Amino acid sequence: MTLYLDDHPKEECGVMGIFAPNEDVARMAFFGLFALQHRGQEAAGIAVADGQTMSMHKGVGLVSHVFTPNAMMDLKGHYAIGHTRYSTTGSSSLRNAQPFMIETINGPLALAHNGNLINSAELRNELMQQGVGFSSSSDTEVMTMMLARNGGATWEERIKTAMKKWVGAYSLVILTRDCVYAARDPWGFRPLCIGLLPGGGHAVASETGALQTLGCEAIRDVKPGEVVSLSNNALKVMQALPEVKPSAMCVFEYIYFARPDQTWDGINVHHVRQRLGEELAREIINGHANGQTDSNGFAEVVIPVPDSSVPAAIGFSHVSGIPYNDGFIKNRYVGRTFIEPTDSLRKRGVALKFNVINENVRDRRVVVIDDSIVRGNTTGPLIKLLRNAGAKEVHMAITCPPIAHPCFMGVDMGTQDSLIAHQRTVDEIRQMVNADSLTYLSLEGMMRAVGRTDGYCQACFTGQYPIPVDLTSVKTGFERVTK
Ligand code: SF4
Repeated sequence: MTLYLDDHPKEECGVMGIFAPNEDVARMAFFGLFALQHRGQEAAGIAVADGQTMSMHKGVGLVSHVFTPNAMMDLKGHYAIGHTRYSTTGSSSLRNAQPFMIETINGPLALAHNGNLINSAELRNELMQQGVGFSSSSDTEVMTMMLARNGGATWEERIKTAMKKWVGAYSLVILTRDCVYAARDPWGFRPLCIGLLPGGGHAVASETGALQTLGCEAIRDVKPGEVVSLSNNALKVMQALPEVKPSAMCVFEYIYFARPDQTWDGINVHHVRQRLGEELAREIINGHANGQTDSNGFAEVVIPVPDSSVPAAIGFSHVSGIPYNDGFIKNRYVGRTFIEPTDSLRKRGVALKFNVINENVRDRRVVVIDDSIVRGNTTGPLIKLLRNAGAKEVHMAITCPPIAHPCFMGVDMGTQDSLIAHQRTVDEIRQMVNADSLTYLSLEGMMRAVGRTDGYCQACFTGQYPIPVDLTSVKTGFERVTK
């Protein structure tokens, strides 16, 4: 029996890079990775260089499990890159853990990546034909090998040459013996930001929160198509490829992935989530939503599915006037254990992760705010928990449109057929999860909450991919190369 405790899309990873003269960069990377732990909990790694040599430690588990004091002792230097990884069932976590480190004719090289190359299978085959062997099934290894083989007088040139061949999503950190490079694909799919360290030097990370942890100032996004070199107190910036217009930043970063303190494209994630809740309430009140509900006052209490839906529930309450309260208490750690539950515990399903505060929902009509429904395997059980606790009615309100298409840009949403909204109407989904009503936020409402009309990828909602993808040959999005 499969145990479903979570029904969110999975972000592939978080990356960070640091150049800090006279600092213990491994420790800085360690604390930076802590702030990126939510982007990947299955493996973590740090590679460090001191101008001459490079060392690395990586392993399976949370950042705090992988990096013991002993493991940190050998990581000496003032250049570092780090990675937290999410990997799906079936792929060997340690084999695919990052960074990837190799010795090249131009010295040691390590690379860590967030994203997915659409053409990685093709590039991998090309390299194999040329006699290159691989020790993993990750597209990051393909990128590493390409960089190692590229001609060019400098690493910047080699990176630029490789970027011309890479199609897809990549926010990369690259370590050589005396430099850290940060590169972002020309579509700008995944975030990457850079900041000035208080003691001199720079740091780059998937999210601004990790840079704030290190005390960074003057934080800005690495631009789409840009390569930034961190080896000096002054940043060296190269526009390696022209920025694709409009860009295709992943809108899902706002809905679920990023931490609420993240600012991306100049927009704070927490604020967007609050506005998503406000927009949803307006659409319900105005009767413009896609679902079943069409009037105000249909519920007596609004509760979030913690944690990512809390700001949206606050926004929803603010606009609708329906009082906000906590309904679920989430155990944040149970989903991250490697110990399998017993059969009797397994039957409890989401009850292993969520408890209901019975007193807050009993005899009430409840509206539940959730950020997304992917496969739909936890929504029904959550509704059942509320009904068992005595809720009179349970109305589901989702802060994005139905997810009906898989992602090929670095997010694991499963196959098309596994998505509950693929080829089903909203009412069919409502019946499947046994909600009294089900409302999704419209695409327009979602973009109003973001505050932009274009520049964002919305392919998992619309099926219109910013880069052509072969739906027939690709089965599982980013994991296609690894199976
Ligand atoms: S398809 Fe969805 S999850 Fe993937 S990059 Fe686009 S918006 Fe993000």
